[in-house]
Amino acid sequence: MDKETLNKINTLTRREFSENELYTFSVILCDNDIDRDGECFSDAALEQLKSLFIGKTGIFDHSPTAANQSARIYDTEIVTDTARLTKYGQPYKCLKASAYMVRTDENSTLITEIDGGIKKEVSISCSAASKKCSVCGCELNTASCSHTKGIQYGDRLCYTMLDNITDAYEWSFVAVPAQINAGVTKKFNIEGGKKMESDFTPITTQEDFDAAVQERINAAVEDTKKAYEGWSSPEEVSQLNERCRVSEARAVKMKAASEFGIPLELSERLSGETEEDIRKDAESFAKFLAPKLKPTPRTSGDAASGNSRTAAQLEMLHEINNN
Ligand SMILES: [Zn+2]
Repeated sequence: MDKETLNKINTLTRREFSENELYTFSVILCDNDIDRDGECFSDAALEQLKSLFIGKTGIFDHSPTAANQSARIYDTEIVTDTARLTKYGQPYKCLKASAYMVRTDENSTLITEIDGGIKKEVSISCSAASKKCSVCGCELNTASCSHTKGIQYGDRLCYTMLDNITDAYEWSFVAVPAQINAGVTKKFNIEGGKKMESDFTPITTQEDFDAAVQERINAAVEDTKKAYEGWSSPEEVSQLNERCRVSEARAVKMKAASEFGIPLELSERLSGETEEDIRKDAESFAKFLAPKLKPTPRTSGDAASGNSRTAAQLEMLHEINNN
């Protein structure tokens, strides 16, 4: 360990440590390639993370003595690998961090594991204030676009570019399901370890495309449900819609009935999908109705029964007419 390294570490510690009390190692925190979520950090984001991660603690939280098993980042650098390209064809860059641990009896096993390359997976938690669609540049934190991650649009692959990193919270050797507003939890591998197989693969088959689209639809449905939480249930809404439709149709039929002199109680017998059809039906119905209604004694005592008899007959005629 050189003097400069020791000095850097001692600026972060409460007391001065000597070289043999410390254990140092390197980890790759993140890179600029597209990850399993179809997201990647911009070059600027990597630069921001480079500063933000200095002094941040890493946790080995599967350990029963987690309190004694933490490491701290004392240095970071961006490493460019020109021989390797990202999935979108740019030189591969990663954020490499140097971390230290104070050697104790409790963490000796852990140190052996790190040296042996057993502890490979690293996850980080940070906040990205900007998430942009790589195809159209839409700001996905505040809006949405029609592009789907993993799909090729012309010569552009769709992925989400994470930018404007506002905070870095922690890093960990195991998957920590951190819930951070507008944040990201990323998992990468410790330097030297084999890069874990990424789950992100460009979509090439119809099935995958359909699945991706279905996923978006499901998400949209969920969003809508959330937005209308406390409002009527979808069933209630569809019932309301149906009731509106029925009332509307009834109103149109009543209007047509009154226009053509058809008794309102018969208006329900009118048929037709549109107002025009209903009016046509009312017009032909009225032709049967007109001569029959004339002799109906409006003032007689049995007017009601007479009317309902006439109505029943007319109804029958209308049915015959309609068939
Ligand atoms: Zn887009």
